Amino acid sequence: MRIGILTSGGDAPGMNAAIRAATIVAVALGHEPVGIRNGYRGLISGELMPLDPAQVGDALRRGGTILQSARCPEFHEPEARRAARAVLAHAGIDGLIVIGGNGSLTGALHLSDPAEAGDWPVRVIGIPASIDNDIALTSLSIGVDTAMNTIVEACDKIADTASAHGRVFLVEVMGRDCGYLAMTSAIAAGADMVLSPEADRTEGELVDSVVDAVRAVRARGGSQRVMAITAEGIETPTARLKELVDARLASVTGQPQPDIETRVTVLGHVVRGGQPSAFDRLLGSRMGNVAVRSLVDGAHRQMVAWQPPVDAVAGVGERSSHDPYCHLMPLDVVLEATRQLLDGESPLARWRATIFDDLQDVFLL
Ligand code: ATP
Repeated sequence: MRIGILTSGGDAPGMNAAIRAATIVAVALGHEPVGIRNGYRGLISGELMPLDPAQVGDALRRGGTILQSARCPEFHEPEARRAARAVLAHAGIDGLIVIGGNGSLTGALHLSDPAEAGDWPVRVIGIPASIDNDIALTSLSIGVDTAMNTIVEACDKIADTASAHGRVFLVEVMGRDCGYLAMTSAIAAGADMVLSPEADRTEGELVDSVVDAVRAVRARGGSQRVMAITAEGIETPTARLKELVDARLASVTGQPQPDIETRVTVLGHVVRGGQPSAFDRLLGSRMGNVAVRSLVDGAHRQMVAWQPPVDAVAGVGERSSHDPYCHLMPLDVVLEATRQLLDGESPLARWRATIFDDLQDVFLL
């Protein structure tokens, strides 16, 4: 086979491990890996490059993606996908590995849709890579572990200075539609509270919850620092939230200025970058291995999933014969489950929406 590999959407640490593994496994099995630069944009314009094991060896250690990534709005249109199929046919590519997030996997589904592509000979397989962990039916996507480690390391540093001054810190992390990173890193960093889009709080409720946490910490004695992790997708931008919290604290204390200092730290793209953690290297490598071997076996329109939740796999997908920790899940099923997760319809989404309200008192002890 000639196996095309592309990375699309937001980059995620560990994508390079997947590219490397796909490359070396393809070569070891006697197939030819071909890199496609700049995601779907590069696919449409034919930005192909040969990939060989020597070239990808050190990539494992690096964040970002050696194939570059891009957003390509044109790919929403059938004409762009037709152009992409023509490029693949012209290059003799008969297997395609798409490494990316929810949008990129949706692009892969449309690219390979028989209603649009007809009897198309190219087999397509997806590898979930997104620091947001917003793809359903896989416990983890590539990049999540590194991003969480980056946040926790930053929060540990912030906690030191916050404790020294008894300050309130609002630490904003990435997560437009999904607060997974905020929630998990709040636990791992020992934060006092988390504000995520799933909880669907109004501006007033967000302010109330921060102010309540500050008052509870002040009342309990001990460390006076307060650390709240906020996901970027909450109703109120973090900078505005700080102003509203300051104003409310001032009115609560009856002072013109609050005697409690609040600070905002926006971690932003720092969370996306950096060397992949050992686990993301492992995850990317194992998924890349499974993707190539499954393509060779004939898999098509599937996603490699890492330990899907037990109730999710009943009757859906199959365990990979190449790695017992991986499943192959139909792309259309994954994407429908992802929609339900992001729309708050799935049981997992409902659990995520309420669990931190239930835990709030525990956090503040
Ligand atoms: P991240 O999780 O970092 O946001 P992503 O893969 O979800 O990654 P998107 O920007 O949503 O990132 O999508 C990446 C690309 O996938 C888009 O620029 C577009 O080329 C393609 N894509 C997204 N949605 C669709 C769609 N509905 N139909 C066709 N192509 C799509």
